Amino acid sequence: MGDSDQLILISVLQHYAYCPRQFALIHVEQVWADNYFTAHGNVLHERVDSCEPEQRGNVRYERGVAVKSQQMRLTGKLDLLEIEGKPPIKYFPVEYKRGKPKIEDWDKIQLCAQALCLEEMREVQIDEGALWYWQVRKREPVLFDDVLRRVTLAAIEGAHKVLASGNTPLPTEQKKRCRACSLVDLCEPDTFRRDHSGAYIAGLFTELTGSDSNEN
Ligand code: SF4
Repeated sequence: MGDSDQLILISVLQHYAYCPRQFALIHVEQVWADNYFTAHGNVLHERVDSCEPEQRGNVRYERGVAVKSQQMRLTGKLDLLEIEGKPPIKYFPVEYKRGKPKIEDWDKIQLCAQALCLEEMREVQIDEGALWYWQVRKREPVLFDDVLRRVTLAAIEGAHKVLASGNTPLPTEQKKRCRACSLVDLCEPDTFRRDHSGAYIAGLFTELTGSDSNEN
């Protein structure tokens, strides 16, 4: 899968799912701007990482579980893995997020990628996990159905391709995302969209006239 040999951190897939250009700015060009949202997210994860494993009844709770997939060239850490019962054991990954549940899939993609890694490592089938949202104190179940698995695999492949090419994609057409993006000042999406549409129109004109000048 993909064109890059390097391992990708599962946590960066959300950047690709949110906007491939954001992914490239961070992981190819390596620019970064911490804003309130990302800084707060880091603090939340540090808190989750610091907890010890515990057993409650039939369920063991493991935190900060390392996972890796050779096949997908992915690596990462689960915030929480619930392991229930005796064989057949049920594995249930949980990812902590600072905000609220989202309509889009990017948090689900990260969780699904964790489940795919676990499936490969432990040769099990994982049907479900959950996202826990700090802001609303809500646990949202996530089914790892065929659609989510396909979208997740496409994001992994796309991220590998961007890394292998070293090219930064154009800004997302979903302009609303730029308003919440911590890289908006570095990215200058409006300028790039304008420049690209100018170049696109010039290209069309050249194609139609068969010339890059207005000589007759
Ligand atoms: S500002 Fe918009 S186009 Fe640029 S990286 Fe952020 S989301 Fe993507």
